[in-house]
This record gives sequence, structure tokens and C-alpha cells, in this order.
Amino acid sequence: MGTTNSKYLPKEKKNTWLKYDEAELIKVMEYNENYRKFISKCKTERECVAESIRLAESKGYCDLKAVIETGKSLKAGDKVYYNNMDKALVLFYIGSEPLEAGMRILGAHIDSPRIDVKQNPLYEDTEMALLDTHYYGGIKKYQWVTLPMAIHGVVCLLDGTVKEIVIGEDENDPVVGITDLLIHLAATQMEKKANKVVEGEDLNVLIGSIPLEGEEKDAVKANILRLLNDKYGMEETDFLSAELEIVPAGAARDFGIDRSMITGYGHDDRVCAYTSLTAQLDVESCEKTCVCLLVDKEEIGSIGATGMESRFFENAVAEVMNCLGDYSELKLRRTFANSKMLSSDVSAAFDPNYPSVHEKKNASYFGRGLNFSKFFGARGKSGANDANPEFIAEIRKVMEENKVSYQTSELGKVDEGGGGTISKFMAVYNMQVIDSGVPVLNMHSPWEIVSKADVYEAQKGFHAFLTKI
Ligand code: MN
Ligand code: MN
Repeated sequence: MGTTNSKYLPKEKKNTWLKYDEAELIKVMEYNENYRKFISKCKTERECVAESIRLAESKGYCDLKAVIETGKSLKAGDKVYYNNMDKALVLFYIGSEPLEAGMRILGAHIDSPRIDVKQNPLYEDTEMALLDTHYYGGIKKYQWVTLPMAIHGVVCLLDGTVKEIVIGEDENDPVVGITDLLIHLAATQMEKKANKVVEGEDLNVLIGSIPLEGEEKDAVKANILRLLNDKYGMEETDFLSAELEIVPAGAARDFGIDRSMITGYGHDDRVCAYTSLTAQLDVESCEKTCVCLLVDKEEIGSIGATGMESRFFENAVAEVMNCLGDYSELKLRRTFANSKMLSSDVSAAFDPNYPSVHEKKNASYFGRGLNFSKFFGARGKSGANDANPEFIAEIRKVMEENKVSYQTSELGKVDEGGGGTISKFMAVYNMQVIDSGVPVLNMHSPWEIVSKADVYEAQKGFHAFLTKI
């Protein structure tokens, strides 16, 4: 906790819920209701970018590309966003101090584990039409079967049009899904190890079973193709240039009889993305330039043009600096080196059903607020960012002065496991960066769970970081 001596959070008030008065409790619930709607609607990185732009524009942000194209300049107080290929987004609120003094950056990822449709996916077997898939990110495959699933994504046609597809979210929509073996015939399957019970190549999505009349061969598949052609104007070969994601169907829900939690798809890491975004949008004035960075591809290693390893962020900062009329390579380097960042990603919440994987003093818990992790790493901190204690002291001070509930943790017991985030890609610029985020139960499952108190404290903590450090 690191708060036992704090004058703001007495030891007996470790549980964040106990510190709220009636008025603040209403704010906690309202904020979370907006978050619940956000993740119910935004189930792909593209949907997150589109919705984030909509929210940003309503708060006065405009497109940096339009500023560049029209040869306009930027000044302190201006708000701009940079959309990278519709799959990653950066927001800048230009501060009163020169960019070179450093930025205050909130970063999170907007891709989530899911089942991706292959390029040649559609086939018919025993008069059923199925889609072949390749899962995205680390999943326990057995968790993703026998659930109502939706199809989200785009199909890019040869004439240049991009068709958006969402099937399975409207209550009148059909859903799709992956079947599993009945228990009655599963004796052999049940003997297998958990990572073999359902194998990757068997994650085939059942999408239809009515044959097209007059078709001799693969008539069910032909009927599906007819439906897709009617609705989206696509041919079978257009799957080659499609990006279709199979995700759990339906809205996120309040969880717990006391409504203290939310269950939904993609808390990892949209819970940190939404809290970072709203913290950025709520900034009213700033000295240091405030930045919110929402990136793609974290779950598969942050590679690719829209992942954190890409130089799109560096390029966007260079463009902003140029529009401020103050560009030089040296100044750009100083801007990064003088910056401070909260790299936010979900942490593993302590699960009373599985206590053995955690070391209780250094685990994160529901209802104890925003989590900070000095290091993750595996087997001897390998690959850990390991933030500087000077920086952590600075953060503690601001969190406590702004009455933000916070906690600290590492990812499970020593030698138990490990994980990576985007922090290391920012540390290469020699900036101060620490991992922070919201604790999650059921991480990487179709239905993850967060505590509303932690979501609310995260947004408060992020706002304090942007404006007070
Ligand atoms: Mn994550
Ligand atoms: Mn993850």
C-alpha cells in the first residue's frame, strides 16, 4: 500500500469504498456507467479509435493532419489528435511551457485478446459453414467455446471501399460461436492437459447451416456467401483483405449484488485506455504538454506500424513541434528525455480462489485503487522496466496530495510467471516511466471483471499525474 503513514488515507480506510461520501459515490457510479457503455460499444482497436476521436472532438480537439495540410500553426492551449491508420491514436493538449520541457504522457493499449478470422477462412463440413481462425494474444482456449460471439471488423474491397461489419451486438442480430464436445462423449478429452483440451486449430466458428437451393457442392457455404454479398457486396476472395475479429457478444454488465464491479470483454486494456482518455479530456489548462497515447498490438508484442514499437508517436511529436515553429532534432530528443509517463495496463487482482500464485504483501486488490508496479519481469526481473524510486516518490506525493487511493504490486509470486507492457518502448527515450493500472479478475478470458472504485481512482490518479507532476 505504501500509505500506512499517509495523513490522507489512514490505515483503517484501506478499502477505497469507505472513503466515499454519498455525493462522491454517485460520481463513482456515473463514471463507471459511462465506462460500461464505452466497452460495450468498443470491442476492436478501430472502434476504440473512432469513439475516442468522437469524444475528443466534442472537447475541442482537432485533427493534426488537417493542421499540417493547411499549413496552420499550433500554440499553447491548442488541442490536437493524430490518428494512426484508424488503429492507434495520440492526443496532445499543448502546454504553456515549451515542448522541450517534456510531456506528461498517459499510455494504454486498445487491442484485446480475441479470435481472429484467417485469410482463407470459409469452408463447409457436414453441411455446416465454418470460419477458420487464429487466436490473438494469450488465451486459455477452453474459455472461448460455447459462448455467444459477435463478428466485428472491416472488409476492404478492390474498389477501395471499406465495409464495416458488426454482427451479434443488436438484440435482433444472430450470434456465432465455437462448439465444444458434450460431456457424455468427452472421456478422452477430459484426460488431456488444459492447454490441449481445446487446440488452436480447432477454434472454428460455426456461422450457418442452410443449403442454397440448386447448389450441388458446398451449398451451405454458397448460401453464406450469397448473404455476405447481398449485405456487404463482398466475394469470397475479399476475405483476403478483411480484418474480422470474433469477440464475446453482448454488453458489459454490473457485477455483484452490490453493483461494485463490472464484467465485460476487453477491460485489458480498455479500462486504462478509457480512464487515461477521460483524464486527458478533463484537463482544463496545463503547463507541460499533456499527451494520451492509445496503441494497438500490445497483446502480440507491440510490433507493427500501429504498435508501440512503431515510430508513429515520435513522428507525431515531431509534427507538433514543427507546427509550434520550434523544431530541431536536438529539441525533439530533449522533449522525450524530459518527459514523464504512466504506462498503464491491467494488473492481476488477488483472487481468493487462487491465493497460491500471489505474494500477499505485493499483490493488487479490488477496491484499493490505482495500482503501480515498479517492475514486472519474470525469473529474476528479466525484461522489467524497474522504475526509479525518485520518480515513485514524486508520484506518491501527488497521489496522496490529491487523495487518490493507490496500491503497489508485482505480477504474482517470484518465479511464478511474468508479463510485458509498453513501458520498455518508452524507456528507450530515457524518459521516466512506470507501469500503473487497474486490477482485473479473469484476465484474458471472454468476461473480465474490474472494481468500479479502482476504475474511478485510476481516472483521478491519471488526471493528477497530467496536471500536478
Ligand atoms: Mn494489457
Ligand atoms: Mn493483456
